[in-house]
Amino acid sequence: MSILVFGHKNPDTDSVCSAIALADLKKKLGQDIAPAMQGDLTPESKFVLEKFNVAAPAVVTSYAGKDVFLVDHSDLAQSPDDLAEANILGIVDHHKMGDVTTSQPLECWIWPVGCTCTVIKSMYDFHNVEIPKDIAGIMLCAILSDTVIFKSATCTDADKKACEGLAALAGITDTQELGMDMFKVKSAVDGTPVRELVLRDYKDFEMNGKKVGIGQLEVVDLAILDKVKADLEKDIVALKEEGARHSVFLLLTDIIKEGSEMLIASDDESVIEKAFGVAPKDSKAWLDGVMSRKKQVVPNLEKAFA
Ligand code: MG
Ligand code: MG
Ligand code: MG
Repeated sequence: MSILVFGHKNPDTDSVCSAIALADLKKKLGQDIAPAMQGDLTPESKFVLEKFNVAAPAVVTSYAGKDVFLVDHSDLAQSPDDLAEANILGIVDHHKMGDVTTSQPLECWIWPVGCTCTVIKSMYDFHNVEIPKDIAGIMLCAILSDTVIFKSATCTDADKKACEGLAALAGITDTQELGMDMFKVKSAVDGTPVRELVLRDYKDFEMNGKKVGIGQLEVVDLAILDKVKADLEKDIVALKEEGARHSVFLLLTDIIKEGSEMLIASDDESVIEKAFGVAPKDSKAWLDGVMSRKKQVVPNLEKAFA
């Protein structure tokens, strides 16, 4: 039976590209393995795969009875609903340890770096396997995306070093320019249904027994979102009600100004002041310097909810 490797729900560029890269590496190490993804490509991921001429993984939402590798997550809330019936062979990730457990020993590479593809670059090096040009290109893009072109608090020297190596392999001379091209694609919202924008980079978390959803839109200029902001505010209130959530927060991140406006739909808005020291006004708060959900938002909220 062939093995599947996949990232989190609402796949981002890292979830897609790390699945493709890990499948390539494992195949070269002799395993019968294919990449998959739990949902459709975002415009950013589509741009990246087209740029380097790499095929998109199949969309697979059920994994019962399958051997699997997880990339870019280890939280049940971000995994397929039937993961308990799958056999987890390994996890490659760069997030906090989630609540996924296994019944057998597994291969685990979880490093505190900015992107799963940074870990996979080291896996290729460890096994002495050469990274193909096209896969180096998409791995480079995943790191630029996750680290917001090295600006995010999650970015480490290991990420920058991995990018240097990958850029050389992919024949990219201007990584900054490649990153900006990608974020311009990511910034486009015209003609996209509001719910799709809310869920584009969205994750549910369990915080002290409460269901908390956090979405993020990263743009090169917040003004791009002016005409959809009122609709986004309405839609996160609806999403909160639909899922019996305690809160839904949507981060509108300006990657040039390096901060985020948070839109808030919550049973208790005081958690925001507790978490960030900023009192919300009209269910919104400007969080200066906050760009990373993983490093600057989730830990603070978890403390505020505790
Ligand atoms: Mg991700
Ligand atoms: Mg990632
Ligand atoms: Mg991200």
